[in-house]
This record gives sequence, structure tokens and C-alpha cells, in this order.
Amino acid sequence: MPALTNVMDQPSNTVVMRKNIEESALPEKEYQEFKTQIFEAIWRDLDPLEEEIENNEHVPHEIVDPLLRNMGAFGLLIPKRYGGIGLSTRQYLPILSEFSKIQGGIRVLVHVHNSASHGLLEAASEEMLQEILPDVAQGRKSVAFGLTEPDHGTGMDIGTTAVRDGDDYVINGRKWLITNSDIASHFIIICKTDSSAGAAGISAILVDRGTPGFTITPLPETMGCKGGEHGQLDLVNVRVPANRIIGKEGQGLTQMEELLEISRVFIAATSLGTAERSFELSLAFAKRRVTFGKPIGSRQAIQRYLAEMGTDIYALRGMIDDAANKWDQGRRIPAEASMCKLFGLEAVGRVTDRALLIHGGIGYTRAHRIERLYRDARLNWLEEGPPTIQIAVAAGKFLSGYDWNA
Ligand SMILES: Cc1cc2nc3c(=O)[nH]c(=O)nc-3n(C[C@H](O)[C@H](O)[C@H](O)COP(=O)(O)OP(=O)(O)OC[C@H]3O[C@@H](n4cnc5c(N)ncnc54)[C@H](O)[C@@H]3O)c2cc1C
Repeated sequence: MPALTNVMDQPSNTVVMRKNIEESALPEKEYQEFKTQIFEAIWRDLDPLEEEIENNEHVPHEIVDPLLRNMGAFGLLIPKRYGGIGLSTRQYLPILSEFSKIQGGIRVLVHVHNSASHGLLEAASEEMLQEILPDVAQGRKSVAFGLTEPDHGTGMDIGTTAVRDGDDYVINGRKWLITNSDIASHFIIICKTDSSAGAAGISAILVDRGTPGFTITPLPETMGCKGGEHGQLDLVNVRVPANRIIGKEGQGLTQMEELLEISRVFIAATSLGTAERSFELSLAFAKRRVTFGKPIGSRQAIQRYLAEMGTDIYALRGMIDDAANKWDQGRRIPAEASMCKLFGLEAVGRVTDRALLIHGGIGYTRAHRIERLYRDARLNWLEEGPPTIQIAVAAGKFLSGYDWNA
């Protein structure tokens, strides 16, 4: 998912509370049992599919979707009253990190499905939630998020428009790189409902797959996270009822900033999982690989790599935990989320680089999972906005008086 760039426009503040605080969390014992079960299922059922997905550059949904459904992965952040598992953000993060250790196409699917449904939960009307979430929680439906455009920048620069015509909106525009475009039943389309109103002219509208005038085209395969589908959406005079607006007209920017905020922490958790797996594999390799009569782990050069990798992982864990804690208390975390995302991508970049060095030449081949983890991690630069955007958001908040120590 993408970036928004207008944070400098927000009023300065100390602590901003979210309007819709979803206070769902499993009781601790129930959570620990659920976590144990889903971790086991990830490794037992999904990890063995890696080679097939990497070879075919395709996630076999007929196999993967029932497995995800059985383990509850489609409804992780959806409250129990809509048929979901009902995890809090803090409870969800370790599970997303675990998914980030296995094949990346599966992680992308799980992340976008859960993140978009979480965004809907925070912003949509009760009527819309009742209609959609029970099916989303079971993976019978899926929501994707359409912000990024081929012809415009992200945020205030978007070119997609929705013009009110009687009881409908008529949408025109183009989106691309939209994850899960092969499986999504619904798309949150960010568009301008009033081009003269600045930030207040941006809205989010839910568009059903199959609406006349709405075409979805697959884009070329990606470097990593193979099998994740990221399509182009063409909307030509797409007519949707006015009640498909999410929240109220003109609230799109605020809603999306809120969605992206927590989603940036989700991407940081992805960086963490990939870094943890790379570290585990590197540690084992450093003990196993013998040169000049000694394991390479006994050499100071390799020890330095390992210590630096551990330091990055330890620091990232702490940041994510703090940000998620604040979010679960109902706080907005604009600077913290961008810093988590920024540090996370830098940390996983360093860790996967060092993992490759520890493995030597064989690490560059598909004989070891380091090669796949290295490629998968590069998506973390882009999802929910590239580093320059995270810098602009965090610095913009600090310059406008945001007190993150409060
Ligand atoms: C695999 C994948 C999945 C994705 N999934 C989704 C999805 O589900 N939904 C969705 O909406 N999007 C999705 N995206 C899009 C992704 O969020 C964007 O690619 C990303 O935010 C960057 O936007 P862009 O591609 O338009 O790059 P551009 O905006 O064209 O940026 C290109 C470069 O210029 C820099 N730049 C651009 N504008 C500025 C500025 N104002 N100030 C400083 N630097 C700037 C950027 O940092 C970057 O380095 C996905 C992308 C990928 C690769």
C-alpha cells in the first residue's frame, strides 16, 4: 500500500486520539493458545509451498486460501462480533512478523487483506461493516486499497475523480500497483470528490469488483514477494451508489492517513520478521561453516556482523512495541509510525546484506533461503510509502510541534 504526503498541512498537536477506537483484544491465555496454533500452521502448512510459489511466480489460491481460512488469518484484526479473531494491534504484530519469515507472496496477501479490513473498520458505517466484514473475516471476500496512480503523485496530487450525479458517484481515473487485485471483491478507491476543496475534497469510495467500466489488468511480476498480484485499475465512468462512500464525503484524506499510520507499523513488523529469520539462518550457518579449520562464527569479522544484526532487531522490536502500545490506547502515532517504517527498512536492509555476506557465495544461490529473504525485504522500502515520504512525515510532525514524548 502507498504513501500520503500532506502531513505538513496538519495542525500541530501533542496527543491526538483516534475517533473510533476498536478496543478488541483476546484474553491473554486465549491469545497465547491462538498464537501457538497459527505459528505451527504457518510452518507446517504454508512454508512447504515456498518452492512451488517461487518457481511459478503464483500463489495457488485453491490451496493457500483454505489453509489461511482454517488458521483464522483472514479475520485477525476483525472483532468477534463480525466473525473475526478479534486481535489487538499488539497481538497481531508478532503473527504478521511470523508470516514475514515464510514466502513473501503469502505475507503480502495476508498483510493487505488484514490492513484494508482494519482501515474499513475504523472508517466505514456500521451498515457497510455488517454487509462486508463477516465474509472478509472468512476470506470469502477481500478488500484492496487503491491510492497509487501511474499519472499522478500520491496524496493531494491524485487525479482520480468522483462526480456526484443524482444518487450516484461517477468515477474516472487510473490506479496501479494495487495488491490483491486478483482476489479482491471490493476496492477502497481514493479520489477527488471536489477538486477545488484541497484536503477536504478527497474521499474514499468502496467499488465492487465487476462494476461496469471497472477493468483490472495484472502488472509484470515483482522482484520479490513472488506471486503477490499488483494490478492496474482503470475506472471509466464507473457508477456507484452514493452510499458507497466510506464515512463522509471529504474525509478520505484523514481516513487514509489513519490507515497508513498503523499500516506503516505493520510494515515495520514485516521488516522485523524477515530480519529475525535472516539472523537465525545466519547464526546457524556461522556455527556450521568451517574454513581454515574453524567455524566462521569464531572469526571477529563474522561476530561483528552478528552483533550488529542483533542490535538492529532488538531496537526495532522496542520501537514497534511502543508504537503499537500507543495505538491500542487510541492514540494517533504519525511520527512514531513513520520512524518505525523508516528504521525497519534500514534495519532489514542491513540485516539481509550481512546475512548474504555471512553465507558467502552459496547465499546468492537459491540453495539457501537468504536469497529469497533478501529479495522479499526490498518491498519494505515501497509499501506504505518510500523513505523520503517517511522522512517528510516525521520531520513535518516535529516541526509543527508534535510532542511524541507526551
Ligand atoms: C509490490 C507493491 C505493492 C503495492 N501495493 C499497493 C496497494 O495495494 N495500493 C496502493 O495504492 N499502492 C500500492 N503500491 C504502491 C506504493 O505504495 C508506491 O509505489 C510507493 O508509495 C511509491 O509511490 P510511487 O510508486 O508513485 O513513486 P513516486 O511517487 O513516483 O516516487 C518515485 C521516487 O520519487 C520520490 N518522491 C516522489 N514524490 C516526492 C516528494 N513529494 N518529495 C520527495 N520525494 C518524492 C519517492 O520517494 C521515490 O523515491 C505498491 C507498490 C508495490 C511495489
